[in-house]
Order: sequence, then C-alpha cells, then structure tokens
Amino acid sequence: MSYCASRFQTVRRLTREVKVGAVGVGGTQPIRVQSMTTSDTQDVAATVRQSIALAEVGCEIVRITAPNVAAARCLRDIRRDFTAAGFGHVPLVADIHFLPAAAMEAVEHVEKVRINPGNYADKKKFAVREYSDSDYEVELQRLHDAFSPLVKRCRELGRALRVGTNHGSLSDRVMNRYGDTPLGMVESALEFLRIAEAHSFRDIILSMKSSNPKVMIQAYRLLAQRMAAEDMHYPLHLGVTEAGDGEDGRIKSAIGIGSLLLDGLGDTIRVSLTEDSVYEIPVARAIAEKAMSRWRDQGGATTPPDAIDPFSFTRRVSTPVELSARCRAGADQPPRVIVRVASAAELPAAAAVLASAKLIDTPAEGLLVPVATPGDLAELCATAARTDLPVDFLVLETAPALTPDILQPLLALTRGKIVVLRRFTGAEAGTLADFAALAARHGHFVACEAEADDIPCLSPVITGADGERLWFTLGAPPAAGDTAHPAGRYRRLVESLRFTGSRAPVWIRNTAGTAVRHDSSFLSRLLEASFLTGGLLCDGVGDLVSIETDADPVRATRLAYNVLQGAGARISKTEFVACPSCGRTLFDLQTTTQRIRAQTGHLKGVKIAIMGCIVNGPGEMADADFGYVGGAPGKINLYVGKECVQYNIPQAEADARLIALIREHGKWADAAAAAT
Ligand code: SF4
Repeated sequence: MSYCASRFQTVRRLTREVKVGAVGVGGTQPIRVQSMTTSDTQDVAATVRQSIALAEVGCEIVRITAPNVAAARCLRDIRRDFTAAGFGHVPLVADIHFLPAAAMEAVEHVEKVRINPGNYADKKKFAVREYSDSDYEVELQRLHDAFSPLVKRCRELGRALRVGTNHGSLSDRVMNRYGDTPLGMVESALEFLRIAEAHSFRDIILSMKSSNPKVMIQAYRLLAQRMAAEDMHYPLHLGVTEAGDGEDGRIKSAIGIGSLLLDGLGDTIRVSLTEDSVYEIPVARAIAEKAMSRWRDQGGATTPPDAIDPFSFTRRVSTPVELSARCRAGADQPPRVIVRVASAAELPAAAAVLASAKLIDTPAEGLLVPVATPGDLAELCATAARTDLPVDFLVLETAPALTPDILQPLLALTRGKIVVLRRFTGAEAGTLADFAALAARHGHFVACEAEADDIPCLSPVITGADGERLWFTLGAPPAAGDTAHPAGRYRRLVESLRFTGSRAPVWIRNTAGTAVRHDSSFLSRLLEASFLTGGLLCDGVGDLVSIETDADPVRATRLAYNVLQGAGARISKTEFVACPSCGRTLFDLQTTTQRIRAQTGHLKGVKIAIMGCIVNGPGEMADADFGYVGGAPGKINLYVGKECVQYNIPQAEADARLIALIREHGKWADAAAAAT
C-alpha cells in the first residue's frame, strides 16, 4: 500500500533533480511555478510579450503550444527575443499534441518538450476493439519507433521531457485495455518512461492531469507507487486541467494540487485558470508556499498508514443522523454545511443575513455559536426563543465550565436539534458519558472534539448505548505549536474510530488551528479550506463541514458549498468545466465562459464544458452534460455527453443552440423558477 515510507507523509517524496535549462525541478529544489502563454505561437511578438509578463510576475517555466511544425519553428525566434529581453534564465517548454514532427523541430529551440502519451504516436478515434497480447506488443513497438528519435535528440541536446498524461486524451489502445481510469493514465506514462530508460534518458518529469480532482489525486498516488516499485524517481508536475475561473477554479486547483503537495508529492505546479495566465502565478505561489512551509515544519515526521484506499474513491461508511424533517447527515447524505457566528449576541443579525435569499443561494444547515459562560447560554436561550433560526440545527461550542446540568434547561426546551461541541481528552470518558446520556434523553447530539490517541480511552462510551448520539471532529492541535498534518490528524481520527467499530459522523472543521500557514487574505482561507476539506472529501471522509476562518457568515457558507462542489461531494449550482486556453484556442474563452455562465449559471446540477479546441475537449468533458467546443475558427461543436451532436455551427448562433439543446434534454429551468 505504501509508495514511500508512509502514504500520508508530509515529508517530500525524494526524486532525482531534472534540469530544465537553468532551473532544477525535483530533488531539493523548491516547488517550481509555471504557466502557459495563450497567444498564437506564430505571433512571435505577442508570445514573447506574454512570456515576459509571466516571468515578471514570478513564473519560473513558461510553456508555449506548438500545434504544428511552423509554430514549432517560431520557438527559435521566441527563445531568441525572450533571451534578448533579459529572460535567458527562464526556460521555455514546447507543448506538443499529435505531431512528432513538431516535437522534433521544437526540441532544437527550447529547454523542454511536453508530449501527451495519449496522442503522440496514436490517433484518438474513440474506437472500441480488443487488443490481444501480441497486438499490444506490436503497438508498443510502434510507440518505441515513434518516440525514440525525440528521446535521443533530447539526450544529445540536454533537453528535458515531460510525459504529460491527460485523463481526457488517453489513447484507444490504453482505453481499451485499462479503461478511462487512473490505472490507464499511469500505464500510458510508464510505456513512454520505459522507452526513454531503454535509451538511458532520465531527464523526465511526469504529470497525470484531469479536470476531476479525485481522479488526478488517485492517478498521481498510483504513479508514485508504481514508480517506487520500478525504482524510478522522476519529479512530478501537478495540475488540475480545465478548472475554470474565479473562486471555483482556484478551489478545484487547490484541492487537487494542495492535497498532493501536503502528502509530499509534487515538484512543479501549474494552476490552470480560464483567466489571463498572469493571474495563475500568485495562486500557484501561495499553494507552493503553504506546502513548502509544511514540509519545513514537519521535518521527517510521518503519520501512520491508514485504511483509506488511496487509489480509488469510496466514501467512509457512517451512521445516518436526523437533524430536521428535511435534513439528515451521514451515510449517503450530502455533506452538511455548518456556519459559525462569533457570539450569541451576534446570532439575530447573522440569522437575518443568512435568511436573505438575495445574499445566499443555498443556506447553511447548521449554525455554530460559541457559548463560554452560563450568561452566554442564557442569552442564547432568549435569542433561540424569539428568533426563527434559518437553519436545521444549532451547534453550541461549549467551554468546560458548561456542565450537563447547566445545559440541561436549553436542551430540554429547544424544539430543533442541538449539537453540543466540546473537547474531550482520553481521561474524560465519564464526562463524555454524561453528555451523551443528556443528548440521548432529549434527542440531541454531542460533537466530540477528540484526538485519535484519545479514542481508545473513550471507546466504552463510543460503543455504549448512547454512542449513536456522538459525532467526531477536531479543533486546534492539543499542543501549542503542533504542526501535525491537518488532514493526517483527521485520517488518524477516522482510523481510530474504525478500530473501535464506530461509524459516527465526522465533521471537518477549518479553524485557525488547522491552518497550514494562516494569513488574513481570502485567498489563503480559500486555499486552506480546499487543502483540508477538499482533500479529505476526495478521500471519502466528511459528513459535515464548516469553514470557520472567515468571519463573514455569507462568504463562509458560499466557500463551504464551493469546496463541496469542487470536490464533487455536493452539487449546489451549475458546474462549469473550462479550459485555460492556449495557442490552439479557437474563440475568446474568458468572455465566452462568462457569457455562458450568465445565461446558464442557475441550472443547479447541470455540468457544462467550454473547451477551446478538440485536443482535450471531448475527453476532458466526458462527464459533462453538455459541451461547447471550438471546432474550427469561428465555428463551434456542441456535445451532449460524449457525443458531438452539432458540428461547425457559427459562433454567433452557438449560445442559443446550446440553450435549445439543454431545453430539449429537459435540463432547462427559468432563472426565477430555479431561485425558488
Ligand atoms: S482544450 Fe483549451 S487549453 Fe487544451 S489544447 Fe485545446 S485550447 Fe488549449
């Protein structure tokens, strides 16, 4: 099960260092931040301008698409002019799909060539056919013949290579043998690695990108495990493809990239946003800084292995709990959202804000209120009696002074469900039993903040008659300055619960204490929430979530729902898959994405893909309901699922035709109706 010392280590996976020009990737080098130009590569001046703009904001490696030999030839002039502008130290990478001839031209001019193993020597026709072992061998030989010239030329010129697998563009050969799976992605890369190693060429970096963070996380883990088994130690380039724009694009990227980095995997990253490329760099830099600070803090510490399968998604089995007539948590229910207010005194104002449909599309289901003293409790009781709270349950974050006797009156009187949140150490099994009994008497719950190591001592209560009233969660680490991996702490907690036989719901809390490096910016809070909550949800852990690092309850609620959507755990709005654009893009992706979002953003649960060209389009949007894909200049192809249903329609008509298709398939709702 392990791919290194431990699956959930926070120490960095050891790799060989690969030089991309003057920039070292992997080994002891910092995480390198990179991006891509979006101009037409044959417009040399524009591409140089974009490369300079990227380098000036801190991009350490610049990638440029080379869709044909003429474009690859332009890389010579781009390299020359970029160097003349003072950026000779910033390496350029040619991005190649389909054409070995373009790669052979590009390798002459730039420091690295990225090839896609799904289409370098194979044509993707979505053909279904059986490959016998001998058929497969013949194919591998053909691959060897097609790829070897590039490998040899890279070795001669001291260039690096990226074998960049995309979930959306696996070859028919790989798809037919391994399916559209993380295993298929890994096998696809390994075939190319073995050819390169046969030529003693090892300046290789690998990537396993997907628009689905769960898939990419599993694929990178599997790749690391398979490489370790074959004594291969190549650096990893991390990225989530087609992440989209704005908050959603940042969240999706941070879930995939951040959770892998915190587990010690990854040496260079690209955050793909459907925005100008320069906006990718601060996000990538912030993600890299958080991971590197964790690696430094953590030293050589590792967390013990657990029973979560790292290579496929299975949701942890938990017991269902009823929180109101319309709201249950645990089991097969979507993770529920809890929002925190700063004090009991602020509860009425926060309740009014949260009740306003104009401010928030999907309300939180639980409201968390700190209650430190009996006075706070009295105030809360009074508020609860006169205010119609717009939530399904109330969580009281209680201090030790609030004993079951003091809480009893509120628990006895309240009509809705109350959850008492309190820290319990292993020495407090008796106290936990009192709280659980009180909760059971009145039909309420206890959210038990307990470390994994405390669970064995608490197990008589957990497995006792009132154990079904318990949830589990974590607060700040028990020791000041404790730098334990935040996701690792939850994994250990889940593992400890499993040992006791408990299926109690687990609540993932983002608090200042769980932050990797906390600063006050919204981006930092967004990244923290994505790393911890998103990463755990992708591992199947989490029945309830709260983002408590944002004081604004509306923004915290939105962020929680956006993280749930980014992790594919709960859909609360239209899902957009949009590529970041590159030199192949056939229309203005940013304005088109914004326009389509404005018309369809109210279609909760509908997934729409907007792709600049067909290179990755049809594959990456495989699980989208509808696709809008550049087919030719000024022409759009529309998809329903994987099937192209309208070819080359004029772009001016494409929006209306897309909406008509959505209507035809019964997925349209008018905006006003959708809001009710
Ligand atoms: S799908 Fe988008 S980013 Fe990918 S190759 Fe096509 S235009 Fe470029």
